[in-house]
Amino acid sequence: MRIGIPGKTCGDCTMCCQILDIPELNKPPGPFCPHCSAKGGCAIYATRPKVCRDYECDWLRERDLGPMLKPSRTGVILMEEADTERFLAVCHPDRPMDWLKNKQVFEHLKLLARQGREVIAKSGSKAWRIFESGRWAPTE
Ligand code: SF4
Ligand code: SF4
Repeated sequence: MRIGIPGKTCGDCTMCCQILDIPELNKPPGPFCPHCSAKGGCAIYATRPKVCRDYECDWLRERDLGPMLKPSRTGVILMEEADTERFLAVCHPDRPMDWLKNKQVFEHLKLLARQGREVIAKSGSKAWRIFESGRWAPTE
């Protein structure tokens, strides 16, 4: 976790420490990272790996994404995929369709698709592409 742009902070959100696959920590998608503190936050904050220090989800980075899109509220991490042009909506493996169930998230994904982005919802090993019309289909 880290402090984002003024007015936005991770606060009590720990979604990226739970949902994301973090190979550097040998952490699969779903379970909390073993360094998550029971009181909240990261127990090794000062020495956390670079991948954690560098990470910011889109909600944290983008001023115009409002409080209703915070990952801890939606269950969905909105983020850029490293080293590709794809935009991701990542969900917990136990709640794979949260990206579709949350109307604001889905509208945001359709908007990005209309702007020409390749938009992918991911949950564990499953993935779906969202098209500008709102149609969606399984993908790699
Ligand atoms: S998912 Fe975003 S808001 Fe939540 S802890 Fe991670 S970077 Fe912060
Ligand atoms: S090391 Fe800390 S910041 Fe990184 S995933 Fe684990 S709990 Fe989160």
